[in-house]
Amino acid sequence: MDKKKTIILLWLFTACFALMMPSSLWAQSAVKNLQFCGSDTRNDSVVLFFRLLDDTGKRITSLDEENVKKHLNIFEDGKHVNWDDATVQLVKSGKRIPGDCTFSVLVDLNIPDAGKKQIYKALKDLVESAPDGCVYISFFGDQVGSSLLMTSKNYAQFEGLFMQSATLKYFYSAVYSKLIEFNSGKAPGEEDINYGSDYKKNEAIAKRAAAHKGKNYLFIFTECGKIPEIELLSYSDATEYQRDKSHDVPVVYAFYYTGDGQIDEDVRVTLSGITEHEELAQDRRGKYMPSDDLDKVIGSVAEVIEGQMYDYAFIYKAQRESYGGDYKFVAEWNDNIIGKETTLTIGSQERPWVPLGGKKMSIGDILMMGLLALLITLLTIAFFFIVMKVAIPWIKSKTFAAKYYKKYVPEANVQRRVCHYCKQDLQPGQMIVAKCKHVMHLHCWKINNYKCSEYGQNCNVGMQEHVEWDSLLSKRSIRDCKQTIAGIIAGLVSWIVYKLLGSGAVFTALAKPIVKVFYKSEGQVANLFDSCVDKVSSFLAIGLLLGFFLSFVFRYNDEYRNKNWKILLKILGLSLLSGLIGMVAFAIGGCILCALLPIINTTNIPWYCSLPAYLLFSICVSLSLTIKSSVPTKSAMLGGLCSAVIGFVVLYFSRMTSSGMNVLLDFVIYGGGLGASLVTVRALAEKYFLVIQNGVKAGQRIPIHKWMNATGGGKKVTIGMTGECEIQMNWEKSNKVAKEHAKLFIDQVRNVPMLQPLANGVVYNTRVELPVGKPSVLTNGDSFKIGDTIFQYVETD
Ligand SMILES: [Zn+2]
Ligand SMILES: [Zn+2]
Repeated sequence: MDKKKTIILLWLFTACFALMMPSSLWAQSAVKNLQFCGSDTRNDSVVLFFRLLDDTGKRITSLDEENVKKHLNIFEDGKHVNWDDATVQLVKSGKRIPGDCTFSVLVDLNIPDAGKKQIYKALKDLVESAPDGCVYISFFGDQVGSSLLMTSKNYAQFEGLFMQSATLKYFYSAVYSKLIEFNSGKAPGEEDINYGSDYKKNEAIAKRAAAHKGKNYLFIFTECGKIPEIELLSYSDATEYQRDKSHDVPVVYAFYYTGDGQIDEDVRVTLSGITEHEELAQDRRGKYMPSDDLDKVIGSVAEVIEGQMYDYAFIYKAQRESYGGDYKFVAEWNDNIIGKETTLTIGSQERPWVPLGGKKMSIGDILMMGLLALLITLLTIAFFFIVMKVAIPWIKSKTFAAKYYKKYVPEANVQRRVCHYCKQDLQPGQMIVAKCKHVMHLHCWKINNYKCSEYGQNCNVGMQEHVEWDSLLSKRSIRDCKQTIAGIIAGLVSWIVYKLLGSGAVFTALAKPIVKVFYKSEGQVANLFDSCVDKVSSFLAIGLLLGFFLSFVFRYNDEYRNKNWKILLKILGLSLLSGLIGMVAFAIGGCILCALLPIINTTNIPWYCSLPAYLLFSICVSLSLTIKSSVPTKSAMLGGLCSAVIGFVVLYFSRMTSSGMNVLLDFVIYGGGLGASLVTVRALAEKYFLVIQNGVKAGQRIPIHKWMNATGGGKKVTIGMTGECEIQMNWEKSNKVAKEHAKLFIDQVRNVPMLQPLANGVVYNTRVELPVGKPSVLTNGDSFKIGDTIFQYVETD
């Protein structure tokens, strides 16, 4: 074979080979990037929208489903999605344009009616593919008209406007006014535009453009009629404005209908100048598309619109029992990772999405869920109990021991020192406790139940908090955790009602208007609007329920009086108020969430957008708890905030398999934490005084909490004439005071201070004489008279 023949054969082979090779191989080798554009859910499937890009960032839409399937692999949170459970689709209908795009469409009324009709029809595709709020339309001819919002709903109203006619063509005015509308503020030469009398600049366009740079488009439809000689604006006004880097300008696509065979040179130069001129930055260039065939013009429009859309949908069977929040997606093409990891939101933490089509909840499932909820509640109670009764006292006890347990070293100048408990000499080297000046043997300290022998009388610091193992499960110990347990149970009840209300679905109608007002960039990524509505409706339910039930149990426990129907009604009313306050707080939090999302512009709802709502709720509900109750503000606020944050972290950063259990855990942690903080601070705030109101001792404050402290001391204070009494009324000159006239003590069941007369003549609040032997509750500010002396009972923080 000679050389020539070989070359020809080689050529033939190559040509055949090239022909036989499926065209897809050419295309697929070019796929360099996959861009996730959003997610959606359908029955039992998750839908991910995406685009394929080549190495220059150009979109590849030529691959059919089979070819994509051959090369693509998608990973959900690192787990490969099996193709047996998945399909890929070329997206052909529905809202496929990302909602952050803005289109301003400018139509020349001089175009023949048939042509305008066709343009009107072509725009239908645009408004149906784009979320509402993306498309604006305006007309020009004898003057320039305002840009009007066009949606799939009001589309039909525009048909008449297309049929208006014009005799003149204010071309430069029209182009320039639409260019500058993408910026707020005044533009040079704005006053020279030939506006219609009712013209109004549409501020929404500039706002959207500022939020989403590079996603703005101007479509110009025009024909070749004459431009009036007197037009004040010119070609250079438009191009200079457009080339100035400080202006946000849209990418311009010009559709020039040259139907009657002639081309106006001024229009041509202008249109190509603002679309494709080489002085225009690469990312600002659009396309100039002249055609004498209206069908071709419309085809060009379709092509440009198509250019903004999602191209493919990856639809796969749900991989989990439920989806609640953010999931990370990665795509591989021929085993190479293409595109960066993208976070998409599916369902929400508050209302996980549960795939349909699977099993329906049977009675058994519901029972299991109830048991699980009960178990979680009990474990939470146990956890709080252990923290409050073991962990914290243990740590305190250990630090106390490290600080004050010492080996006795005799001081110089001191001959001997005795233990204040056993009165024996302290020997060098013996372990002692040196917390207060009443030094004791360590073993004596322990025998005396970890406190100084003088504690409650001449000493108010000699006390060691410790784990009371033998009385750990005593009634008193459990009563200390009463508010905590109540808060946890309120959390459980709130959760049950929350589930019954469809995790807040009942508030959808209420949430929608809120999201509409604050989620300005509707459909920034196509489905975030719905996610926001879901989230805000859940927020409203959580605010109402937690606010109501927590307030109810705390107020019920706080109320020591007999709960007659009047008092119950008052508790109920105040709790409803707390519920409403919680709801309003969460509504404001929802507004913050919706306002934040367009600013940060992501494909998902990041956790930090929800945090303000929870914090605000906690602050407001804590404050509402202090209304007409003895709950101290500062502690409620601090404790509430801490537990809200911990609950939030559990809700947003842990993934339990069973849907909705995260929400329960959040509720019980918040309730328990808030309850615990109310108790702790209450104990700290227990500072009781008697203030003498009259006579020689008027104004003297007697700190009775020293004796009456619930955690130690004799737990009672007696008032009378003898030295046996804690308060000896030696100033009293009358003979009306008995040796022991009255007793103050803390009611261990209700945890409230009581006054018990031991002799006749104790006058309560200057009105009633109290019967001997019968204790009455003392509330802050109450007064009582013994002999001629009036005491006022005062609690301070
Ligand atoms: Zn001793
Ligand atoms: Zn002491």
